[in-house]
Amino acid sequence: MLANSQPGTNKEVLKRHLELEQPKGLVQVEYVWIDGTGEGVRSKCRTLDFEPKEAKECPVWNFDGSSTGQSEGSNSDMYLHPVALFRDPFRRGPNKLLLCDVYKYNQEPTETNNRKSCADVMRRASEAHPWFGIEQEYVLLDYDDHPLGWPKNGFPGPQGPYYCGVGANKVYGRDVVEAHYRACLYAGVNVSGCNAEVMPSQWEFQVGPCEGISMGDELWIARYILYRVAEDFGVVVSLDPKPQTGHWNGSGAHCNYSTLAMREKGGLKAIEAAITDLEKKHMEHIRVYDPRGGEDNARRLCGSFETSKIDSFSAGVANRGASVRIPRQVAADEKGYLEDRRPSSNCDPYRVTEALVRTTVLHEDF
Ligand code: ADP
Ligand code: MN
Ligand code: MN
Ligand code: MN
Ligand code: MN
Repeated sequence: MLANSQPGTNKEVLKRHLELEQPKGLVQVEYVWIDGTGEGVRSKCRTLDFEPKEAKECPVWNFDGSSTGQSEGSNSDMYLHPVALFRDPFRRGPNKLLLCDVYKYNQEPTETNNRKSCADVMRRASEAHPWFGIEQEYVLLDYDDHPLGWPKNGFPGPQGPYYCGVGANKVYGRDVVEAHYRACLYAGVNVSGCNAEVMPSQWEFQVGPCEGISMGDELWIARYILYRVAEDFGVVVSLDPKPQTGHWNGSGAHCNYSTLAMREKGGLKAIEAAITDLEKKHMEHIRVYDPRGGEDNARRLCGSFETSKIDSFSAGVANRGASVRIPRQVAADEKGYLEDRRPSSNCDPYRVTEALVRTTVLHEDF
C-alpha cells in the first residue's frame, strides 16, 4: 500500500546506482506509444550514440505488437515512428522521452493510431490556427483500486470541501500532483495549471494552449509522465470517466478551443457559428469523445455533477451544465474561445481535436 512497502523498490539504493556517471555521448531514449486499447501507454528504452535535437533524428524502431493488443503473433512486428521529443524528467541529463505513432508491417497505421489522420486534418486547417487547451481530470487510487485516502470501509464526507481544497482531510496525493507538474515543465510540456477536483483524490491539470497536432502530443506525454510519477509513489492513476457511482463527480477532459477568427476582435460571431456546427454533429462527436463509441461517457454525462445529458446538445455562457460553455470573460470580451465539456477523461485528444476542426473549420464528416 505504501510506496516503501512495495516489493523490489528502494529509492535510496536506486539513487546510489543512478549516481553512476553516464558515459559521454551515450543517450537513453525512452520510446513511448499508445497501445491497442487506445487508452494505455507503453514504453521501452534504447541507447543512442548522439543527443537527438528533434524527433525525426531518432531511428524508427519496432516492438512485439502481439503483446500490446496491436497484432496477431504471426505478423507481430510493429513500427514506432518518432513524432515528438521531450526531455526525460526521470533520467534527466541528455536523456529523452520520445513519443511515437504506430504502424503495421504493411506501413498502415494501427487501429488506435489516431494521430496520422489528426495530423493530416491539422495540416489542411493550418491557416485557421486552431488552439486547444485540455483540462485532464483523473483519480488517484491505491493498489486495491480504492480511491487514495478514502476509508477502506465506508466513504469520505460528501462533496463540497475538496475542490481546490487545502489540508490533510481535504486532499489526498498532493505529492504526486506537485511532482508531476514540475516534471512536465522540465520535459517541455506546455502545462498551464493544476487543481484539486470535486471528488476527494480527484485532480486536474491543464495543458495548453497548444496549436494543432501538438495538443495530442503534449497531452499523451503528460499522461505518460503522470503514470510514471505515480508509479514512483506506489499510486495508481485512473482515467476512468466515472470511477465511483453514486453522488461522486466523474472525470472529463474539457477541450477549450479557438481559431484565429475567434481570438480576433468580434470573434464571438465565429464562436457562435462553431457552436451551430457542433450542435448538428452532436452524436458524431460523442462517438469519438471516449474510446468506446460513447459507452464510457454514458456513465458520466448524466445531466448532473456539472455535466450535460449525453443525448442532447446545449450551449450557454458560464453554464457548466451545458455541452459547450462560453466562459463569462469571453462573452464580455466578445472574443476568445469555447469550452467543449463533453470529452471523457480517457478520450484520445487526437480524435477530439480532429473532430472539432473537421466540424467547425473544414466542414466535413468523420
Ligand atoms: P475551467 O474554468 O473550465 O476550469 P481551466 O482554467 O481549467 O478552465 O482551463 C482553461 C484552459 O483553456 C487552459 O488549458 C488554457 O490553456 C485554455 N485556453 C485559454 N485560452 C484559450 C484559447 N484562446 N484557445 C484555446 N484554449 C485556451
Ligand atoms: Mn525481446
Ligand atoms: Mn478546469
Ligand atoms: Mn475540472
Ligand atoms: Mn472546464
